This record gives sequence, C-alpha cells and structure tokens, in this order.
Amino acid sequence: GAAASSPAMKQVKLDKESELRIEVNVNASLRLRLLNGSAEIFGTEMPPENWLVFPPRMKFAIFTWYGATIEMQDNTETDYVADETPMISYVNVHAVLEGRRNRAKAAASDADASQGPRVIVVGPTDSGKSTLSRMLLSWAAKQGWKPTFVDLDVGQGSITLPGCVAASPIEMPIDPVEGIPLEMPLVYFYGHNTPTVNADLYRVLVKELAQVLERQFAGNAESRAAGMVINTMGFIEGLGYDLLLHAIDTFQATVVLVLGQEKLCSMLKDVLKRKPNVDVVKLQKSGGVVSRNSKFRASARSQRIREYFYGLSNDLSPHSSIANFSDLAIYKIGGGPQAPASALPIGAQPVADPMRLVPVNINRDLLNLVLAVSFAKEQDQILSSNIAGFIWITDVDIPRKKITYLAPSGGELPSKFLLMGSLTWIET
Ligand code: ADP
Repeated sequence: GAAASSPAMKQVKLDKESELRIEVNVNASLRLRLLNGSAEIFGTEMPPENWLVFPPRMKFAIFTWYGATIEMQDNTETDYVADETPMISYVNVHAVLEGRRNRAKAAASDADASQGPRVIVVGPTDSGKSTLSRMLLSWAAKQGWKPTFVDLDVGQGSITLPGCVAASPIEMPIDPVEGIPLEMPLVYFYGHNTPTVNADLYRVLVKELAQVLERQFAGNAESRAAGMVINTMGFIEGLGYDLLLHAIDTFQATVVLVLGQEKLCSMLKDVLKRKPNVDVVKLQKSGGVVSRNSKFRASARSQRIREYFYGLSNDLSPHSSIANFSDLAIYKIGGGPQAPASALPIGAQPVADPMRLVPVNINRDLLNLVLAVSFAKEQDQILSSNIAGFIWITDVDIPRKKITYLAPSGGELPSKFLLMGSLTWIET
C-alpha cells in the first residue's frame, strides 16, 4: 500500500561535533537531505537541500562541525546520534598533513623536500581504515590538492574490484554515494581476496605499483606535493604484519596511522624508530565503525563486481561478446611446478614458482570467473603490466570453441592476454 511505498519522514537535529550513524535497510534504499546547517559524510560536504539516495545495506555517518538538521525517511535498519567521535583527532592529522603539503609545494626545486606526506593507514579489519583514508583524501581535495589514493586491500577494493592493488588520483571530494569513480585507474591484478594464496606475487605487484607512481611523481610536482594516502589490509598478524612492513618500506611512507590497536602501534614504533623521518601515530577507532562478518564481506565483494558491470543502480548496460578460443590467451600466475621432477637433481622436490606464468586450458571450469584484461602486448610483459579492466565468463562452448563474456563496454579487448585468479561472480 501507500505506506510501504513511501515511508514516513522524520527530522533529526544534530548538535555541533556529533554524528548521525546510519545502517540502511537491507531491502530498501534511503532518501535524506540536509535541511539546514552544514554536515559532511566521510569528509565530503553534503549539498544543502538536495535529496541523496543511499543504496540498501550502506553504513555511514553524517557528521557536523557546527550543527545541522537532517530530513530523512524513517525506514533504516538503525540510526542513532553519537556525540563522542574521534573526528577532532582525525582533522588534526589532516591539519598536520596540510602543513607538510604546503612545505613540499614551496620546496619544488628540491627533490626530497618537494615530496608531500606519504600516509599509510593500518589496523585490524573493521577499524575504519578505508573510512579514515577517504576522509583524509576528501579533506585534501577540498583544499585543492590532488592526493593519490593507493589501495592495497585485496579483500575489498575501494578503487576497483577485490583482488587488485590500485592507485587513483583524487581530484574532488569523494562522492558519499558513488564512492571513487570506477574509471580505470592504475590497477594490478593479484586475483585472490587474501594475500596468503601467493604472497610473493602480492609483494611484486605492490612494488610495481610503487615504482610506477614514483615515476609519475617525478614528472608532476603538484601530485608529488599532495602526497598519498595508502589503505591496507586488516590482516596484521604474521604474514600480514610482514606485508605491512613491506608496504611501508616500498612506498617510503612518512606517516603511519595506526587505528585501534595498541600492540600493532608499539610494534611498528619499535621497528620504525631507526627511521627518524617516519612518524607512527596512534588514532582512536570510531565507535561507529560497523563490524562485518565474513558473509557480509563476501556479499560486499560480489556487490562490487555487480557494480563494475551494471553500475551502482543498474544504470550501465554491459555488452555480451563472443570470442574464439584461439583469439584469447589466458594465464594464471604461480602454482605449477617450476621444473619437471625428472629435470631436477636427484632427491630435490619440485617447488612451485610463485611468479611462473602458467597457460590456462579453456574449458567449462572458466564459467563464472572474472578475468582481468592485461595491457601487455607481448607475453613476457604480462607480469609487469597493469590491467585495462575485467570480463566475466558467461559461457564456454567446447564443440564450437567459443567463449561468451560480459564486458562493461563493447568493442575489441585491448589485448588478447587475460589473467585468471580465483575471482568469481554469480549473478543474483
Ligand atoms: P576497515 O577499512 O578498517 O575494514 P571501514 O572503514 O571499511 O573499515 O569501516 C567498516 C564499516 O563501517 C564501513 O561500512 C563504514 O562505512 C562503516 N563506518 C565507518 N565509520 C562509521 C561511522 N562513524 N558511523 C557509521 N558507520 C561507519
């Protein structure tokens, strides 16, 4: 009836320095607007009076520095006002970073001094790393900087699909609904949503990404001064910790922000004290950060893939194309023995070479896989090449030797070289 199609409206008044925390209904989107005052969503200012529509399940907060009134549909999963937030400490970090950016800009002729802050955000899963990264980027963009966002979290993917490491310049405050525009940034395909599958490959790709950014910064004083914000994985024990240290080192981070973990902070302070130009700063986790279980994470990954092909609100129409088996060359990286046992010295065991390029036979096992399209022109460039985008395999016709796939746009693939990992998607 009418009540179901148009939920009741309500107004929520926010005092200064408080936030409205919202979990959108799992089945219905949420319409709301800023009625008066000023407020921001994860660092991006809300436009006055315009209605915003948030998709089902989204979790976010509307924060106000000076007070605001929000008008909203009364159909959320939960919404409540909190007046205790760590926002002051976050914005203080932003102020320090601004100072460093300005100093870097003023020192444009000096190779070292002209490098703006390289911030890396670390902490356990669900400590608010992505959210803090986003705020720092949006606040910087609002001041006219174009900082580079680097996402090393293969588990979720804020820039592109899960299973990738990626970087993108942030030229405007990040849209609270749309997120970071999915127009292909610099992306390397790892292929799995956990680094344990092939940690060597993960390290190589992180290094490749860092080197390309380094070259870009060398020729671009503006982005060099703006610096980077690097988001990391919530995996912080054992291998996860090693990979954090590797990322700090590889990107030559100058500021390490540790969210909500005393132990990690003191470990990092200890190992990094021999690097006087690296600041390790502990920050409080926001009480608003929502814990997501593994089922929710899996569905968020799946949602992300759907969004890549179909758009956030089903507004894109992907193209279905057919290719001959012989037109494509599919590879996976790692696995497979390095050499046949017969070629090894007596007694030696064949070991898997993590960086081996293994050709993949086309068969029905490819169904539902999401493959990355490499920019490589030759086979030997595949390992060091970034990717152009993704395709999703919808049919494999063995007798006719034809593959049907979905791509976000039609036309020829930029390369015949495709990369396979364990990323799959099933249309729901
Ligand atoms: P992490 O990157 O550490 O895993 P996220 O930053 O992705 O954590 O936060 C987890 C979830 O909590 C996200 O859905 C995010 O939008 C939500 N969230 C973060 N901060 C708040 C807040 N203050 N109020 C409401 N939801 C929040």
